[in-house]
Amino acid sequence: MAKIAFIGLGNMGGPMAANLVKAQHQVFAFDLSAAAVDVAVDKGARKAASAAEAVKGAEVVVTMLPAGKHVREVYEKDVLPNVARETLLIDCSTIDVDSARHVGGLAEKAGLEMIDAPVSGGVGGATAGTLTFMVGGGDAAFAKAKPILEKMGKNIVHAGASGNGQAAKICNNMILGISMIAVSEGFMLAKRLGLDAQKLFDVASTSSGQCWSLTNYCPVPGPVPTSPANRDYQAGFTAAMMLKDLMLAQQAAAAAGASTPLGAEAAQLFNLFVNSGNGAKDFSGIIRMLDGK
Ligand code: NAD
Repeated sequence: MAKIAFIGLGNMGGPMAANLVKAQHQVFAFDLSAAAVDVAVDKGARKAASAAEAVKGAEVVVTMLPAGKHVREVYEKDVLPNVARETLLIDCSTIDVDSARHVGGLAEKAGLEMIDAPVSGGVGGATAGTLTFMVGGGDAAFAKAKPILEKMGKNIVHAGASGNGQAAKICNNMILGISMIAVSEGFMLAKRLGLDAQKLFDVASTSSGQCWSLTNYCPVPGPVPTSPANRDYQAGFTAAMMLKDLMLAQQAAAAAGASTPLGAEAAQLFNLFVNSGNGAKDFSGIIRMLDGK
């Protein structure tokens, strides 16, 4: 049993903290939202009055915050000045690679071990404890973190040095955003050519057009009964989250001098979709915009 400070108890952090409690860890919970802390306390966590209080005496700190600026602020102001030397730091938020490496560097300077460990799997995976973790950081920190991450997830991948967890996450999601648009365009063209959606699915899913967006998350209703297309594009993975990740990918591509023209186009199309009032819809709903609806 470890003393774990958990900061950021939103849609993802709440259920992740609850799984650490279930695994018999002592969880000290803090969030700016008092209601979120109350929910965590109901699940067996202990209430902390501030982030600084939560991390004092903690063996492990886990953060699950909205964006890079929140992570920088919480680590610079509350975590780094108040933790003990042997505390392991785990940031599970999805943030820009630069912020992840900046905060990781500050931790290293302070003699602390830190990993960036963003997740995929959504709220369902956070609740079921089946998240995938993509981890950046040193070997020793990864080995220490693994048993903790295993209480919240199933698939834990060490992607390399600090920031590489974030890099893996945004590269994967850039592929996903582009492939969803590609699959949607295929179905739209098929419709206009008089080709039945199921027939296109039967061909593409067993030939070279095959990909996850088609076979697991098909954007038209019918061929994959579990896909959000069958429930009016109720998320799932929201278009707003996809836009966030595509923007992070563009920011990283610009900083690294990588050419990602389709990633840029996907970001623009999702920006249009989200700003037309569809941020809360599943990202596969972009097919409706491409269809002129
Ligand atoms: P959320 O908005 O539901 O939760 C974020 C929480 O952080 C909120 O409760 C907020 O009050 C708290 N917070 C903000 N600033 C704080 C501070 N300074 N101190 C303490 N608490 C603070 O967001 P979420 O859906 O839980 O997502 C969290 C992270 O996980 C994001 O980086 C997101 O991109 C990533 N993510 C989300 C999903 C998903 O499906 N929701 C999937 C994968 C990754």
